[in-house]
Amino acid sequence: MNKLSIEEKIAAAGLKLSQGKKEILEILEKNAPISVPEILSSLKTKKISLNKTSIYRALSTLIKKKLVSEIDLGEGKKRYEASSKEDHHHHFLCNTCQHIYHIRLDEMLVSKIEKNIESKNKFSIENHKIEFYGKCGDCG
Ligand SMILES: [Zn+2]
Ligand SMILES: [Zn+2]
Ligand SMILES: [Zn+2]
Repeated sequence: MNKLSIEEKIAAAGLKLSQGKKEILEILEKNAPISVPEILSSLKTKKISLNKTSIYRALSTLIKKKLVSEIDLGEGKKRYEASSKEDHHHHFLCNTCQHIYHIRLDEMLVSKIEKNIESKNKFSIENHKIEFYGKCGDCG
């Protein structure tokens, strides 16, 4: 599998390369889903000055192009992570340390559940979000 560089991903999405987008994507690729204040402090560590407005603007562009996804686990803050089409997955939030883990599900099983819901309700399901909460191995 050939892995695209961050510059190539941004170009492939038809976006203009800016330092903000590049740095944010780089940070998000290395971390578990993080919030804007955490992005801000990572940028500071890298000695990059970018204000919140610019971060939100860069994020919203990256989200529109599906390079970043927004995760809301009901914590009262949103988190962001680098995403790609091939990387559909779910999350587990540890209620103790607040760490988020990526979870892969048997999507065939999920699709069976969806078909069941659709046939019972005449719905057409386009998307799903399934989240898990509990205590992680480090906290257990
Ligand atoms: Zn899924
Ligand atoms: Zn934990
Ligand atoms: Zn994830």
